[in-house]
Amino acid sequence: MVSGPSGAGKGTLIQGALQRVPALAVAVSATTRARRPGEVDGREYHFMSRAEFARLVGEEAFLEHAEFAGNRYGTLGSELDRIMGTGRSVILEIELQGARNVRRARPDSVSIFIEPPSLVELARRLRARGTDAEEEVAARLEVARVEMAARGEFDHVILNDSVADATDGLVAVIGAEIA
Ligand code: 5GP
Repeated sequence: MVSGPSGAGKGTLIQGALQRVPALAVAVSATTRARRPGEVDGREYHFMSRAEFARLVGEEAFLEHAEFAGNRYGTLGSELDRIMGTGRSVILEIELQGARNVRRARPDSVSIFIEPPSLVELARRLRARGTDAEEEVAARLEVARVEMAARGEFDHVILNDSVADATDGLVAVIGAEIA
């Protein structure tokens, strides 16, 4: 699983790794967050109402779920079954609480933390992305401080100061772990 502050570049690095490692697939999470421009339901996320999310929690459909910056996110067990049924390894892109829960539920999982060069650079990236309101950016930066402090819990830490180098680092770690 891949974790790290919002804006650290997890999504970009995962997309790069997926292109280079065919034995990998990323699990599509469920979320109550509003769809950003360009996002497609069923591709980035399964977008749903809080009522629908709560119903799935009641049905124990999630391996884990967490609240992040005012929205709910969760990994669907059916997604893991779907991917593992094809013989591939699953990547979860997940925030800190979810990473802790998955570590408990699946002690054999491998955790990777993507670290931004600094909180200042993180703030710049989040604002440059232009997808979130200032209030949302502030909430994400607040959470980022807590996430950065937990980096030591992870099996691997990859500094994302250059996308090319960080993607190489991620591919190398994954290659070693799934070998
Ligand atoms: P975003 O709104 O930027 O897409 O995601 C916000 C945070 O939620 C990111 O740190 C992302 O990794 C995390 N996240 C996405 N899917 C899941 C999930 O299924 N479970 C948990 N716990 N976190 C998730």
